[in-house]
Amino acid sequence: MPPGDHEGCGLYVHVPVCVRACPYCDFDFVVDRRPDVEALVDAYRRECGERELFGRTMRTVYVGGGTPSALGPGGLASLVHALRAWFDLGAVEEVTVEANPEHVTPDLLAALVDAGVHRLSLGVQSFDPDVLALLGRRHDGSTASRAVEAAASRGLSVSVDLIAGVPDAPDGAWADDLARVVSLPVDHVSVYALSIEPDVPWTALVRRGRRRMPDPDHQAAALRRAERVLVAAGFVHYEVASYARPGKEAVHNTGYWSLRPYVGIGPSAASASYEAYGVVRRTNPRGLGAYLGGDPAEVERLGPAAGAREALWLGLRRLVAGADAEAVADRFGRSRAWIDGVLAPAFARDWVVADGSRIRLRPDMWLFHDAVGRAILGGDDD
Ligand code: SF4
Repeated sequence: MPPGDHEGCGLYVHVPVCVRACPYCDFDFVVDRRPDVEALVDAYRRECGERELFGRTMRTVYVGGGTPSALGPGGLASLVHALRAWFDLGAVEEVTVEANPEHVTPDLLAALVDAGVHRLSLGVQSFDPDVLALLGRRHDGSTASRAVEAAASRGLSVSVDLIAGVPDAPDGAWADDLARVVSLPVDHVSVYALSIEPDVPWTALVRRGRRRMPDPDHQAAALRRAERVLVAAGFVHYEVASYARPGKEAVHNTGYWSLRPYVGIGPSAASASYEAYGVVRRTNPRGLGAYLGGDPAEVERLGPAAGAREALWLGLRRLVAGADAEAVADRFGRSRAWIDGVLAPAFARDWVVADGSRIRLRPDMWLFHDAVGRAILGGDDD
C-alpha cells in the first residue's frame, strides 16, 4: 500500500473540455462541442498504466474540469465505468461529478445514478440573468433551479458553486442568489470570490471598458453576507469557501486539507503523496495537446519542514476541525514546540487559537486565510 493510503486516497479526474469559454476562467480546458470521449478515456488509461495506478484503492472520486457533463450521459457513464474497472472502488465513500446546469437532463441523471455517482457539483454561479450574462454562462436561473431539484429527486447529494462579488451585478442580485440557494434541496454550497488572472479574456474586456475588475471590499462584504445567510439557514461553515448541511461535508475535498494522499489524472491534474516525512507533488502538463503528446509531469519534493508548514496552512482552511498539530508533527517528524514556533506569528496577532492538538482560525479570520499563510509558509528550515 502506498504511504498514507491507510487514511484513504482521493482520485481526481480532470475532464479538459468545455462547450464554450467563460471570460473569467483560468482552468485548463479546450472548447469542444463534440469531445472524443474514447480518445480521452484511452489517454487516462495510458497514464494509469504508466504510473502503475491500476488496482489502487480509492476512498473518494471526483470528476471535475472543465465540464465533465460536456461528455454527455453515455460519455460520463463510460468514464465512470472505466474508473471502476481500473481502481478498487469497493469501499468508495463518495463519487462526485461536476456538471453545468444546462446539461442536467433525465438521461444524464439516470447515467450518473446507474454508474454509482453519489454527488453532483453544479456550476450555478448565479441565478440572476444579468450576472450570468456578465459571467458568459449559458444557463438561466430557472434551468439551474430545475437541475438542482431534478438531481435531488434522483437521490443525488447536490453541491452548488456560487460566485461572489461580480462587478456591475444588479443591486440585490447576491441577496437573491443566496435566498434562492437556501430554498432549494442543496446539501453543500461553495462560495468563491471572482478572481481574474492576468491572461483571461476578462482582462481584455476591462481594457475595452466592457467589464470592471472586482473590488476587494465589495467581495468581502458579499462573502460575509453569504456566511450570515447560509449559517442562518442551517449550513455549517466548515471550510473557508465551503458550507454544508450537517454531515454533508465534501469527503474528497476534505482530503486536500487533511494530509490524505491524492492521485490526479488528466491534464494539469495534481497528485500528492507523503513519503519519508516529506511530500512528493506531481502536476501533469497543462493543455490537452501537451497531455496527449506525453509531455512530462512536474515533480516537486517538499522536505519535512516545508511539508509541515504547508499542512498547517491547509489544515487551517478547516474552520471547524482546524489543523491537527499532533498529526502534522507525527507525519513530518517535528516536535510540538517546532509547530508552535511556526504558528507563533499567527498566535501573536491573535489570528488563531489552540484547543489541545487542534489549531483553528478565529471566527472572523477566514477571510484572511491567505494572510495567515504568508505568516507561516516559506521558512528556510529545510
Ligand atoms: S468556468 Fe467552467 S464552464 Fe466556464 S470555461 Fe471554465 S471550466 Fe469551462
